Amino acid sequence: MSMEETGSTVNIPEIYGSLVFDDRVMRERLPKDVYRAVRKTIKDGSHLELDVANTVAAVMKNWAIEHGATHFTHWFQPLTGLTAEKHDSFISPTGDGGVVLDFSGKELVKGEPDASSFPSGGLRATFEARGYTAWDPSSPAFIKDGTLYIPTAFCSYGGEALDKKTPLLRSMEAISKSAVRVLHLLGNEEVTHVDTTIGSEQEYFLIDKDLYKQRKDLLLCGRTLIGAPAPKGQEMEDHYFGVLKPKVAEYMHDLDQELWKLGVPAKTKHNEVAPSQHELAPVFETANVAVDHNQLTMEMMKKVADKHNYACLLHEKPFEGVNGSGKHNNWSISTNTGVNLLDPGATPAENIQFLVFLMAVISAVDEYADLLRVSVATAGNDHRLGANEAPPAIISIFVGDELEGVLKSIDDGTAFVSQGKTKLGMGAAVLPHITRDSTDRNRTSPFAFTGNKFEFRSVGSALSVADPNIVLNTAVAEYLDRIYDRLKDVPKESFDTELKKLLKELLDEHKRVLFNGDGYSEEWVKEAERRGLYNLKSLPDAMPHLVSEHSVDLFTKHKVFTKSELESRYEIFLENYSKTIHIESLTMQEMVRKDFTSGLLSYEKALTDEMIGKKSLLPGAKCKLESDTLGTLETESEAIDASLSKLHDDTKEAERDGDALHTARYYHDTILADMTELRSHVDTAEAMIPECYLPYPTYGEMLFSLR
Ligand code: ADP
Ligand code: MG
Repeated sequence: MSMEETGSTVNIPEIYGSLVFDDRVMRERLPKDVYRAVRKTIKDGSHLELDVANTVAAVMKNWAIEHGATHFTHWFQPLTGLTAEKHDSFISPTGDGGVVLDFSGKELVKGEPDASSFPSGGLRATFEARGYTAWDPSSPAFIKDGTLYIPTAFCSYGGEALDKKTPLLRSMEAISKSAVRVLHLLGNEEVTHVDTTIGSEQEYFLIDKDLYKQRKDLLLCGRTLIGAPAPKGQEMEDHYFGVLKPKVAEYMHDLDQELWKLGVPAKTKHNEVAPSQHELAPVFETANVAVDHNQLTMEMMKKVADKHNYACLLHEKPFEGVNGSGKHNNWSISTNTGVNLLDPGATPAENIQFLVFLMAVISAVDEYADLLRVSVATAGNDHRLGANEAPPAIISIFVGDELEGVLKSIDDGTAFVSQGKTKLGMGAAVLPHITRDSTDRNRTSPFAFTGNKFEFRSVGSALSVADPNIVLNTAVAEYLDRIYDRLKDVPKESFDTELKKLLKELLDEHKRVLFNGDGYSEEWVKEAERRGLYNLKSLPDAMPHLVSEHSVDLFTKHKVFTKSELESRYEIFLENYSKTIHIESLTMQEMVRKDFTSGLLSYEKALTDEMIGKKSLLPGAKCKLESDTLGTLETESEAIDASLSKLHDDTKEAERDGDALHTARYYHDTILADMTELRSHVDTAEAMIPECYLPYPTYGEMLFSLR
């Protein structure tokens, strides 16, 4: 794209959603009764009759063909965390040498991909290779690269979920059911449905594509496994919100357009903390659609990057020593009457409703903190969560001073003085309208209240946002149920008193999770331990919690996961962790043995030749610089040789068919430690070798080459 094009006006309303079979298209093209039936299915999740599906399919096909599509695919989200697709063309031979273009209701609502190569964690034996994909009408179909994409859920022959969408939809139902009951109890009778809403701020790195291609670690693992730090990192804090470089701005412009066409509401873009790191935030949407749109966003980021001669890195920790990338999961609950339940509101009635939902969230996050930690555990994200970087592995909640004051007044019955200087007593159930500005920023908190929503910051940049939201929705549903059960039979006259008593009890029990201080500090680690909070540093530490009785009880009660679905996920996540580190180990060994060593040897040879040459010309020359450099390189070479052998032998030892947890622990304790040791020597040596001897680009080149 040229600069002229970038500068030219874009008719955003015209391109926005132009490749989406959205409500506008359906209203315009579907017969009225069919449109109504589809709307009902979307709203209530009711069953869609086959004749209705047939009509929708025919209309969808014609629309898709008009927009250049030749194929359709059921688009689903298997447990790899990525998306999957298998394209079928619309053609149907007529028998006389010709074809017609066909797409039936049956093809729209159900697909039967061979599921045997997707992770199932033992849920599906290979002889039962069949899996089903089922149309999810609540997420609109769209066209990409000449194919009609139909968002679907993916399950096994026996009906067990093999994907991330199915449990997400189940958890959305669970929280809706529980929230509606509580709202009715509080006198808010019009609400019949609530949706959880998500806005996920996506961080990413861009680097020059040619540089990217020269690094096996980036190509195969998505992160650098070796590399001495550049003389400059992020210490100057000059990149955050900095001026966009012209070529990067062109990329972002192009990305926005592609996303808008797909109906993804890309809204904010800026430079992030680390050099070459950026962020894109969308306008929030219903959880299910937001998850799909985040997957599309990640895909488009990579695709558009390629066009602009960049590589987009979504790994949580592509570079050591500079910030990694996360995905802030902004989460709230909104009613079908258009009310955000986490907005403090302006009136007393809204206040009490807000406090009930606030306490449900605080309690849920405290009790199920371990499951939230599990939901963001991957080999990649562990580099952020376990390390000294945003945010820590300990899950705590930041509510800000104002809300902390409100909670304190619930706790001790004292009057609350707002920053607006109004004195308010909890007795009157009054709460000032908490404006977004009065909640201060706390960048170190993993779970922060930001005015009218919570922001879960532990999500990794490469992850599907489905998992954390499944846990959040279900855990909050559980606490809403407990609140309902406690209050449902309380007579009207004592309702207020009982409700306040309950809020105080919940606060007493769960206030240990509230923390407004510095989440990175050593003191917090100790304090959290005193408070009995989890500090699950790595995936192998966290994963057993997924199959604990506590977890099984929660998820089965709310019909989000069956026990075997949980067990299968447990196996898959552990295996995935071990496999990831295994590949990293092999890649690192190859890169050190071949690429790094060739650079090292040629530099050593150059130094030696230089010394020989110098001494023949100047017999008395000491060649101190050369010999000191050679000496240090020799010391490091020996250490590299030893640690490379150790990594090699230990990786061979790894028992990949044994118990999944045991294996994952081994990869964590032994292989990762070996890799760290090897890396430290390689990096020391690399820092002494001139760039021209290295067959791969250095940190300095990769991080500071964007224009
Ligand atoms: P902040 O400055 O606190 O990061 P922004 O307004 O920039 O807040 O929003 C950050 C993200 O939060 C955006 O993706 C936005 O759409 C999302 N967001 C805002 N309100 C809600 C809500 N009610 N539910 C879910 N996400 C929300
Ligand atoms: Mg934010």
